[in-house]
Amino acid sequence: MAERIPDAILAEIRARISIAEFISAYVALRKTGRNYVGLCPFHSEHTPSFSVNDEGGFFHCFGCGVGGNVFTFLTRIEGISFPEAVRRLAARAGVSLPQAEQDPRAQERARLHKLNALATAYFQRCLWGNAGQVARQYLAGRGLGKEIAQQFRLGFAPSWNSGLARFLAEQGADLEGAAALGLVGKRADGQYYDKFRHRLMFPITDSMGRIVAFGGRLLPMAQESPPTAGQARALPKYLNSPESILYKKGSVLYGLFQAKDAVRRSGRVLVVEG
Ligand code: ZN
Repeated sequence: MAERIPDAILAEIRARISIAEFISAYVALRKTGRNYVGLCPFHSEHTPSFSVNDEGGFFHCFGCGVGGNVFTFLTRIEGISFPEAVRRLAARAGVSLPQAEQDPRAQERARLHKLNALATAYFQRCLWGNAGQVARQYLAGRGLGKEIAQQFRLGFAPSWNSGLARFLAEQGADLEGAAALGLVGKRADGQYYDKFRHRLMFPITDSMGRIVAFGGRLLPMAQESPPTAGQARALPKYLNSPESILYKKGSVLYGLFQAKDAVRRSGRVLVVEG
C-alpha cells in the first residue's frame, strides 16, 4: 500500500539536506569534533547522548539506541508515515517526486478522501441543525460535550432515504465513488440511497487526519413507532464502512491522529477496546 520511492530520489534528497541543520530545528546541537551532540528528543536525559553525523547523514542515540537518517528522524519526531516524511523533505530539498504525482491510485485516493470530507461536512451539519436533536440528546446522555464532538468531527445521519446522496449530487460529487466507499447504495432503477440512516456518525481518520471510513451507531427509535422485529434485525447497532482502497480495518487505530501529539509528549499510550 505504501508508494515505492526510488532509492536514487531518496539519495538525492539526503544529499541536499544537512541532517545537522535539519535536526537543530528540534534539538539544540553542539559541535564536538566531527559530530554534533545534544539531548535526545526520544528519551528523557540530562547529559547528551544524542549524536548527529552530518557528513554521513545519520543520527544515533547512545542512551536509547534510536538512530537512522533524516527520514527516520522526521517520521519519529513528527509521528508521520515514511511516504509523508519523504514528501515533506522532497519539498524542502526541491526534489520533485514525479512517480507519486503520476500515480493514478494516488489521484483516486485523493478523490475518495474528498468524498469522505464532504460526507463528514454533511453529517456535521445535520448533527448541529434541526434534524440532529435526537443525536445531540444521545451525546449529552453519554456525557459527550460539544467541544469533544467537534474535535472528533462527530455527525448525524438522519433517517431520510437519500439526504446524503442528494447532497453529494448537488456538490457534483462522484456517486459511484461514494458507493465504493459504502456511503450510498444504488437501486435497480439507478437511484442512489443513503447507507447510514438514523445514526451517530464517527469519522475514522488515518494517522494524517484524513477520513478513511465511518462508524455509525444506531440511535434510539421514537417511542411511538418502534421498529418491527424484522426491521430491528435488519438494523445493526453498529454499521461500519466496508474496506476500500482508503480503509483497511486492521491497519487503522481510531483516535491515533488526535492522540499522537500527546502520546509523543508523554511517552505513554493507553489503548482500549470497544
Ligand atoms: Zn535517546
